[in-house]
Order: sequence, then structure tokens, then C-alpha cells
Amino acid sequence: MTAVVGRFAPTPSGPLHFGSVVTAVASFLDVRAQGGRWLVRIDDLDPPRIETGAAAHILATLEALALEWDEPVVYQRDRGEAYAQALAHLSEMGQVYVCRCSRKIVGVGPYPGTCRTANWPAPGAWRVRVEDQPIRFADCIQGEYVQNLTPHCGDFVVRRADGVYAYHLAVVVDDAWSGVTQVTRGSDLLESTPRQVFLQALLGLPTPRYAHLPVVLNADGTKLSKQTWAPAVDTIGAPRALFHALDFLGLEPPRKLLGAASAELLAWALPRWRLTALTPAARPYNTV
Ligand code: GLU
Repeated sequence: MTAVVGRFAPTPSGPLHFGSVVTAVASFLDVRAQGGRWLVRIDDLDPPRIETGAAAHILATLEALALEWDEPVVYQRDRGEAYAQALAHLSEMGQVYVCRCSRKIVGVGPYPGTCRTANWPAPGAWRVRVEDQPIRFADCIQGEYVQNLTPHCGDFVVRRADGVYAYHLAVVVDDAWSGVTQVTRGSDLLESTPRQVFLQALLGLPTPRYAHLPVVLNADGTKLSKQTWAPAVDTIGAPRALFHALDFLGLEPPRKLLGAASAELLAWALPRWRLTALTPAARPYNTV
């Protein structure tokens, strides 16, 4: 039997907000309930998106949530060599090509394959050739998911023209390297998953078990995020956010636990955790 390994992989573009706490707590409880190991990775791949001090703030908040990780934190900024190897592997297989299309040519629709046969030398962006066929996987919360990459996005970028590796490549390389068997994350990433499953197959990497959590919405139906001014969760507010996260996740903690310490809340939640009891649809939640 393979050991169960899960992870939480925040992008340090700001402090955690309630939605990211829900993801962290769910991924933690899910692996702990199976006696597995829980890892933290900081997805600091894309310099313009990184906010100074955010990674340290996130880690301090996770500690205040009593979410203890089992191995040293992995930083994507240190993993460039592994991504380069994966790209070289795809290149040897003839699966990637250099693309010199400008943003304007590419537009917003699926990439039409303009540079597929151009044989451009580097520099440029690197795209992976996709196949015109459905990719399927069974999500533990969202159910069967099917997507054909050709109409969805076309050949997609695995390394940008500025040299930054794409999230899709980095995430599959890192999850496999860390032995991750369960990916529990927000359902905003559901439509990205077939690209990752496709890359795993090309690179001969295992596909983890996916569970895409219902996303937390604001009262107006928008996703809770930095862009919609979601309030930051800090070390002081952590236990309260944890209580509400357990409530959002359907565990119905008794009101008397509001005010309990994080460790106590987690100890209460662990034997009650049931991933499969989650309703899949995104919904608003008011933490006040
Ligand atoms: N770093 C990504 C984010 O913060 C999540 C990566 C993942 O869970 O695959 O949205």
C-alpha cells in the first residue's frame, strides 16, 4: 500500500484568507484521517505575483492553525533544475516546441497551433502539443470530469518567453517528487487538472487522487480572493477562522467551540472528517 501524502501549496501573493484556510484545513484533515503525511509547498514561481513577507506570514498562520507539516517546506523558486529536466524530457520526445506568437496573435481562445510546425529555435515560449481527445478523471468531490484540451486551451505554455516555468509543469513535477498521492484544493483549479493529468502521462508520473473543494464565495457570488478584498487571516484570528472553516466543510462544530484553541478544534474535527460528505457547489459563507 502506498503511504498517503497530501499537501497545501499556497502562492505567496498575500496572506491567507478564509478560502485558503478552508483548503489548508481540508487537505490536512483528509490525509491525517488516513494516517498520512501532510506537506507544505510555497508556489513562488512567478516573481511579479510574489509579495514580500507573504510566505513567512502564511507559515506563521498555518502554525497558529495548528496545521503541522511533516517535512521541510519546499519552495518552487529552488526547483528550477527539476523543471528544466522535465522540459528537456518533453523536448526529447518531440512533445514541445518554441512559440513566438505575441499575446495579440494568441488572443483569448484556444491556441490555434500557429507555431506547431515552425521549428523556431529558442528563445520563445515553450508549448506542449496536446491531443484532440477527452481526458477523464474521477474527482472525489466533483465526480467524473471530462475535458478535451484541443478546444479547451490548445497546445499550452509550459515555459513562458520570460523563462518562468508554467504552474502546470511545476505542480506535476513537484507533486510527484514529493510523493503526493492526494491533491485537495479549490474547485477553481478543476478545469486546470486535465492539463496536469496530461503532463503526468507524458512524463510517466503518477496521477494523484484529486478532491476539488467547493469554493467559498462572497455574498455577491464572486470568489473570495485577494482581488475581491478577502480579509487576511492572521495568527490572532486563526482559531476563529478554523472554527468557521470546519463549519463550511460541513462538520457543524458546536457553538461552544468558538473560542477554542486550534489544536482542540482539529482534535474534535479529525474523527468526524468525511471528504465524501462535502457538497460540491461553490457557496457563500459569512464568517461574522
Ligand atoms: N499555488 C496554487 C494556488 O495558490 C495552488 C496549487 C495547487 O494546489 O495545485 O492557487
